[in-house]
Amino acid sequence: MSAGLLELGAAAARAEIDAGRLSAAELFDFYRDRAAADRDADGSGLGCFTWVAAEAPAGARDGSPPLAGVPLAVKDLFCTRGVPSQSGSRILEGYLPPYTATVVSRLAEAGAPLFAKTNQDEFAMGSSTENSGFGPSRNPWDRDRVPGGSSGGSAAAVAAGLAPWALGTDTGGSIRQPAALCGIVGMKPTYGSVSRYGMIAFASSLDQAGPLTRDVGDAALLLLHMVGRDPCDATSLEFPGSLATPTAERLDGVRLGVPGELSGEGIEAGVLDAFNAALEQARGLGAEITGVTLPHAPHALAAYYVIAPAEASSNLARFDGVRYGMRHIDDARPEDLVAMYTRTRHDGFGPEVKRRVMLGTYALSSGYYDAYYGRAQQVRTKIAEDFRAAFEEVDLIVTPTAPTVAFELGEKTGDPLAMYLNDYCTVPMSLAGIPAISIPCGLSEGLPVGIQIAGPAFSDARVLDAAHALEGALGFDGSAALV
Ligand code: GLN
Repeated sequence: MSAGLLELGAAAARAEIDAGRLSAAELFDFYRDRAAADRDADGSGLGCFTWVAAEAPAGARDGSPPLAGVPLAVKDLFCTRGVPSQSGSRILEGYLPPYTATVVSRLAEAGAPLFAKTNQDEFAMGSSTENSGFGPSRNPWDRDRVPGGSSGGSAAAVAAGLAPWALGTDTGGSIRQPAALCGIVGMKPTYGSVSRYGMIAFASSLDQAGPLTRDVGDAALLLLHMVGRDPCDATSLEFPGSLATPTAERLDGVRLGVPGELSGEGIEAGVLDAFNAALEQARGLGAEITGVTLPHAPHALAAYYVIAPAEASSNLARFDGVRYGMRHIDDARPEDLVAMYTRTRHDGFGPEVKRRVMLGTYALSSGYYDAYYGRAQQVRTKIAEDFRAAFEEVDLIVTPTAPTVAFELGEKTGDPLAMYLNDYCTVPMSLAGIPAISIPCGLSEGLPVGIQIAGPAFSDARVLDAAHALEGALGFDGSAALV
């Protein structure tokens, strides 16, 4: 049965449970044991997990909840009551929140119990999961390569079959880029459609939770039970329209726009080949493919790397050794409060987080605010306008998800700008707040390539439908990554 279990996607597992051929407890134990084995493998595993449940949660719900008991892995940065929630940072090592993030409790109520927490870049800052305070995660397609980031633990776990599905968060690409590098599906929904309550904040105007799954149907199923207004998050709202499990198999009459700015220069040749082959498949399904222009998109990365660090420098001010996690007293000045703050933040934050806090503080400081933060906000507005104009002409926009396939561990850690460039194709959609999904579209040098499909705000259902149709035609086989 075990080998068979691994082949079941989340929706298929749910159907087996509904039909009485599989028990939720059996499925929970299956994934729990696989995750625990990876966690205990000390260097020979994928480094996906920061916590694994000791046993199934007590009080399994009676009746038949919509997600039937299919267990869920959740990125470390979601607060989970009584379970370590560290956002990949030593400064929060062992922190046990007194409450659970809204999306995690909604999914548990819908019948997807938490079974593991996944590794990530510290405070979600990074594109490779190498910035984790708890060691890197590895890509199951090639263990010497990164799984992408910052939701790299979630992506690697789903690709390797160590989790049936997982939650990640995306601020500038952290769901879509690791999904692409690991050959799975990852979606960032429209900003505001999902509650941020209980997510340890990185950049609040951009952060959004979303699914990482083996296929588009599973992503829709998870998202369906996540969306909705939450009184605890003033930026969340009732999702307009309806989300359903996608069934589209054709793209007849769907106008797909390819922005030249995000599908040419700077994109690896093998990635472009796989992307262009996917466009041919889309054409075969009836899509009309046209060029569009997003004139300000090339400036998105620069604007993002001002806005996100600015918000982060403010959000991370709360980690001061007083209220949460680590507290380090300066031995030379044990009575000095400021020395305690300094010592704690010096010891608790990793180098990338320190870099962002300094960049962000600088960008917000008086005298520089207009030149950096104000200007970056203007660029953000221009980018949103570019998308609005493009969506007058096309229904959806398609690009490669990441400019490269998975790179080697250590390859970019010494060069932050090279690392940042990996977000080139995903950051514009983040700044515009629009929905975008990445689905696997082929291999280059034996490693997965993702295609990104983005739509206007709240067109999430349309994005999922198009992804579903294209997925069927592409027939990507990710089984080589299963462990
Ligand atoms: N890689 C980007 C960054 O480092 C995006 C991260 C994210 O989406 N959380 O900021």
